[in-house]
Amino acid sequence: MRCYSTEVMFDGVRAMMESALTARDRVGVQDFVLLENYTSEAAFIENLRKRFKENLIYTYIGSVLVSVNPYKDLEIYTKNHMERYRGVNFYEVSPHIYAVADNSYRSMRTERKDQCILISGESGAGKTEASKKILQYYAVTCPASEHVQTIKDRLLQSNPVLEAFGNAKTLRNDNSSRFGKYMDIQFDFRGAPVGGHIINYLLEKSRVVHQNHGERNFHIFYQLIEGGEEDLLRRLGLERNPQQYQYLVKGNCPKVSSINDRSDWKVVRKALNVIGFNEDEVEELLNIIASVLHLGNVQYGGEESNACITSDTQIKYLARLLGVNGTVLTEALTHKKIIAKGEELMSPLNLEQASSARDALAKAVYGRTFTWLVNKINASLAYTDDSYKHFSVIGLLDIYGFEVFQNNSFEQFCINYCNEKLQQLFIELTLKSEQEEYEAEGITWEPVQYFNNKIICDLVEEKFKGIISILDEECLRPGDASDTTFLEKLEDTVGGHPHFVTHKLADGKTRKVMGRDEFRLLHYAGEVNYNVNGFLDKNNDLLFRNLKEVRLRRINWEDAAATQFKVSLAKLMEILMSKEPSYVRCIKPNDSKQAARFDEVLIRHQVKYLGLMENLRVRRAGFAYRRRYEIFLQRYKSLCPDTWPNWQGKLADGVSTLVKHLGYKPEEYKMGRSKIFIRFPKTLFATEDALET
Ligand code: ATP
Ligand code: MG
Repeated sequence: MRCYSTEVMFDGVRAMMESALTARDRVGVQDFVLLENYTSEAAFIENLRKRFKENLIYTYIGSVLVSVNPYKDLEIYTKNHMERYRGVNFYEVSPHIYAVADNSYRSMRTERKDQCILISGESGAGKTEASKKILQYYAVTCPASEHVQTIKDRLLQSNPVLEAFGNAKTLRNDNSSRFGKYMDIQFDFRGAPVGGHIINYLLEKSRVVHQNHGERNFHIFYQLIEGGEEDLLRRLGLERNPQQYQYLVKGNCPKVSSINDRSDWKVVRKALNVIGFNEDEVEELLNIIASVLHLGNVQYGGEESNACITSDTQIKYLARLLGVNGTVLTEALTHKKIIAKGEELMSPLNLEQASSARDALAKAVYGRTFTWLVNKINASLAYTDDSYKHFSVIGLLDIYGFEVFQNNSFEQFCINYCNEKLQQLFIELTLKSEQEEYEAEGITWEPVQYFNNKIICDLVEEKFKGIISILDEECLRPGDASDTTFLEKLEDTVGGHPHFVTHKLADGKTRKVMGRDEFRLLHYAGEVNYNVNGFLDKNNDLLFRNLKEVRLRRINWEDAAATQFKVSLAKLMEILMSKEPSYVRCIKPNDSKQAARFDEVLIRHQVKYLGLMENLRVRRAGFAYRRRYEIFLQRYKSLCPDTWPNWQGKLADGVSTLVKHLGYKPEEYKMGRSKIFIRFPKTLFATEDALET
């Protein structure tokens, strides 16, 4: 009888153990540090796949959140979910973007340290959605008052406005952010959001005048044309048909099934009001948007070498909408100012030059308007209440990930340089925080080998001899400077750098696989070939001087260049360095925006570009798992008669007694000041399994 019951019990235990195992088998581990084979990329991807299949889109690597875009609405962003994550321990609940948001918030409150959440990933991976979810979480869960409610509304409403002017439909994402964004949310001493500030990076201005097939211009153009009221369009001289506008027809894609321009227009108009734009300011903004469309329809004719404008309809609208003199504008669009023998002369532009001058003006006007818009939003989010001078900050960074296309140009060069900098920061801070934790806990730090990408950052940004310096030098050099001479200068200056390659080999022969107008950088994430064509123009932000002299209200001309980007990135790094970082790494599961499709090749690339394996290696170098004593004891105390139901002595002694009872071997764990460190996942799994039986 006794034997029988033991057998039954044993069977029961085995069944339970099996079901626990199959559960882990089925849904994978919720923290990659618990992967037995943590250096295996295949095991990593398999874990992602299992979880994705079960709609578990979030997984941790320690405190880093990895997120896979589900491309469908999951019921995991309700108010109930927000409540569930509020104030609970990060590891006690399943991984979620709300857990990251809450953890940063609580660290800010309890440790009084500014936080930042860095969101990265390629286009369509879900960065912007993630940042919106974080913002919503704060809007719902943080304390409020009347003033705070206004700020919360403005913070939330800044999104549709910035998206209207800065997002577009691309082949990879119907709502792709064409600019990088860093947003500070400021909290007062009660933890209520009281202000905000946005910094924007590298708006893709070329989209204003050209779109690839299947892509669109920025949303606002279509919203205005589809949704704008009759009398508004009349005032702006616009027709309700995007096909009428040269700047809207290049991609041959005026309508997108997932986008409703008309209702989005209403949302944006309302958002502008909430942010505090008055009617005059809205009108002025729309005047400029309409001007860009009119500018695109300016047609040139006349002799090849002497362009003139064929119809003055557009010029009339432009003069009125922009408040400039029509004759001056016409001259600026057909001539350039040159200095000959100390005298200023107007020299006619040929047809091609005139078209590019027109496009350059359109891009510049749009770019400056975007900056103006961001400044306006900042003014409306500014923290004005002097009685609470001290506030804490959580920063959100939503910025383009590493990009490698068939043809990579200046834009990819800047974006990948930015990612190189962020990677540097990430490695530095991750290692630093690991090391600090070990030191704080009194555990010996074992140095971790890792690739330090400073060498690549230097190659790009070093003063005098970095790629950007050389580019600026060529841009300023009068005479025969061109993209080709820029490449030659690069070869002379950085040709011997281990991360720089061109078609030239050291022995004077040529490397056949590379074009003569390309250079290759060996980035931390992989090799990228950059085509130098257009580098000088783009760096100069090609705009003839006299065009800059056409004074436009509220538009402040300044030179945009790679150096400016470098300076703004350096500032960003400083901002981020002064804060405690959390990371969200977004992954796109497939190229067809489909739910439930897990494209392994695509995902493997992203795991590489995001540096996830390196991240895991650093995190796992010492101990897979660590927990504060009270949490560990609380969870497992039932497994030992001495600690159950309550341990009366010191927490560390309780944990010590408990793990000895469980048979932990000395090499399997270490006792820190406030935490236990467990070296291998299997030790923890055995304990978890014991709990389930
Ligand atoms: P880009 O670099 O082009 O701006 P992104 O990383 O910001 O890309 P998002 O715009 O955030 O990408 O996401 C693209 C689309 O994927 C969204 O419009 C939405 O349809 C879907 N998506 C992203 N995240 C989620 C999510 N958590 N749940 C459901 N759908 C999502
Ligand atoms: Mg985005």
